[in-house]
Amino acid sequence: MNLIYRKRKYFDESFPDYLGRLAYWNGYRDSEVLVVSLINLYKDIAGGYDISEKERKKLSDFNVEYKRHNLKWYKSRVALEFVLREYFPLSELNLYEAPPKRSVSDNKICRKCWEKNSYVRFYWREGCYKVCHLHSETLIKVKSIPYGTSVSSLTNDFDIDAFKYNCKITKAILESRIKMGCSLSDLHFEMAVAIDEISLWGRVQRFLKSRFLWEIDVERYLDIQLVAGLSIPSRLESVISKLHFENKPQEKLLRVVLILQIVRYNFLIKMCSTTWNWILSESYSLSPFLYSYIKGVKSNLFASNEMTDNYVVYPVSFLSFSDRQLCKFIIESSIFTSNELKNFYKGGKSYSTGVLEPRGILGRMEVDYDKYKDATGKNVFDIQPAKRKILA
Ligand SMILES: [Zn+2]
Repeated sequence: MNLIYRKRKYFDESFPDYLGRLAYWNGYRDSEVLVVSLINLYKDIAGGYDISEKERKKLSDFNVEYKRHNLKWYKSRVALEFVLREYFPLSELNLYEAPPKRSVSDNKICRKCWEKNSYVRFYWREGCYKVCHLHSETLIKVKSIPYGTSVSSLTNDFDIDAFKYNCKITKAILESRIKMGCSLSDLHFEMAVAIDEISLWGRVQRFLKSRFLWEIDVERYLDIQLVAGLSIPSRLESVISKLHFENKPQEKLLRVVLILQIVRYNFLIKMCSTTWNWILSESYSLSPFLYSYIKGVKSNLFASNEMTDNYVVYPVSFLSFSDRQLCKFIIESSIFTSNELKNFYKGGKSYSTGVLEPRGILGRMEVDYDKYKDATGKNVFDIQPAKRKILA
């Protein structure tokens, strides 16, 4: 196989779209024909050796290229590297984690971008990306990628009403990160983080408002464009640093609620392993009591055993706690000193734990909240405290 058109792949072009471009300019009927010949070439190069299912499965855990639906791109890449004598960095292949649900409508292009340089940007394939972040122009739907066709001939070929919105998160991330070589997997990661971050702050906001009658204006400071690409702790800190606090305990309250809501709903934890370390050091910096809860039982709180009266502690699911129970826990668990708590009173009432005594469910038994309180002091953990992580 010899290719006459050998222009290089762009970092924001996906490998499949690059093959489409090579196929077009080298005169192939469609990209599938080129892919098939590349796969045949791969077989020759590999000398009959094919990647085993066991090997593939193992590698697919950390490399998207080895997912079953991407295997043909893996083989095409190896063969194409041989043909072009060029190496394609894996991070720039922009392959999908799951098989993409492609339909005709997924072919969309920005006319202005296309005019400037005719190749498909990987983010055009995102379902929610409908307005170009560079030109603020609605992308046009095309039946097939129009390599070699002038854009003016496409102008009547789209339905502008089909696109009414743009995904703000995608747009913001692309605007701030694309110059740094953001790939499809980076984009997906950033989007997942941003979505979790928005829900998390929403919960913190609602909780502080309903329980401590404190309204914080988070939306104003949750600037995705500004925080995109930063580590999770830095993102959280950037919002905290912009909030107004009347006193030190108020800031502590916000930090405590933030941590409890992260742990309670598993926000941001699965995204990045360092998030958990940050939670531990942050809780230790705030209060050894909070640290004990977080480190000792992770998602659980304690209850004493009424039956035996010996303070053997059982975990009570933290998730089943209502906001009222959580509030009571924050106030009564020694995380705050009584002096600190006084700051939350404004005209006698600044927080509300509700009228009813909260009860936890322990197996089939209902446990009075006060019992958790008594039991908390009896828990001893054999843990070395971690120093607060210094933020970059
Ligand atoms: Zn554009």
